[in-house]
Amino acid sequence: MTNLAENLRDLQQRFTVAAEAATDERALESLRVAYLGRNGEVTKLRRAIGELPAHERPQAGKAVNDVVAVMEERLRRRLENFDSRKVASELAASIDVTFPAIPAALGSLHPVRRIIDESCAYFRRHGFAVVVGAEAESDYYNFDALNIPSDHPSRESFDSFRLSDGMLLRPHTSAMQIRTMQRHRPPVAIVAPGKCYRRDAVDARHLFQFHQVEGLLVAEGIHFGHLKGMLTRLCRQLFGPDQNVRFRPSYFPFTEPSAEVDTTCPKCRGARGPCSMCGGSGWIELGGAGMVHPCVLREVGYEPDRYSGWAFGFGVERLGLARYEVDDIRRFVASDRDFLTQLA
Ligand SMILES: [Zn+2]
Repeated sequence: MTNLAENLRDLQQRFTVAAEAATDERALESLRVAYLGRNGEVTKLRRAIGELPAHERPQAGKAVNDVVAVMEERLRRRLENFDSRKVASELAASIDVTFPAIPAALGSLHPVRRIIDESCAYFRRHGFAVVVGAEAESDYYNFDALNIPSDHPSRESFDSFRLSDGMLLRPHTSAMQIRTMQRHRPPVAIVAPGKCYRRDAVDARHLFQFHQVEGLLVAEGIHFGHLKGMLTRLCRQLFGPDQNVRFRPSYFPFTEPSAEVDTTCPKCRGARGPCSMCGGSGWIELGGAGMVHPCVLREVGYEPDRYSGWAFGFGVERLGLARYEVDDIRRFVASDRDFLTQLA
């Protein structure tokens, strides 16, 4: 038995040295045959076990099996090594380092984000601050403080998603106007961009989640002319230098007087002929505006006989429809790369 153990140790050492020295798969195969093959050295030792006394045989058999397992494992690892080196060298041979690289696919800003950024940049240049706030707001900031008491029918047009008692997903970003005015004395000049929610059925012109850009300017001596000037220049910034703005009388609880704001149809340039975008009117609607209602000013502690101001709110997706001549508002949220690439 001592002899067998020594022989096995000796065989294993020689095998290890030879396996490490092997330079290809063929050398490994000859090694396998020489040691583990039918007439291999280990196999010969295994045959010799039969000549041992019966009580030594099980232990001797186990010792041989252990050495065989170690040798097989080493052969397997060396073979793997050759395989991966072969793959690497084949790969290296197949790569043409002088070939032009495949350009990385770069993304771009979403068209809605671009309109928000450009609008905010325009107002910032005129001294406005950009404010953003929570999408979940209370009834008070969404309605009551904006002169829409709980029994007012116009609440219905701002129907949104209720979260819990008194909290809802904001149907407009106007809450930020109230919060800003509560914190700061006039003059106040802000623009508030952000996501809004309304319980609208989704179709080519409506989404239940959309973006708004709102503006507010309150100071002494502010009048409608300032509003018209700012919005005309904003539209020229977004659509082109010949753009005009028109105001149509309207009603909102938080402004008095109130107006719907239209701008020249960018498709027909106001030609008033047949036009799929404006229906032949030559104008497209952007949103609402007006002079801040005295009740709203009083609610935040401003004196309406001293201060006046205007506010407006535009739907960003609506601006996008006009600017990019898109026929369906749902395209903006469809994650369609082909569509977005055209507008990039
Ligand atoms: Zn048109």
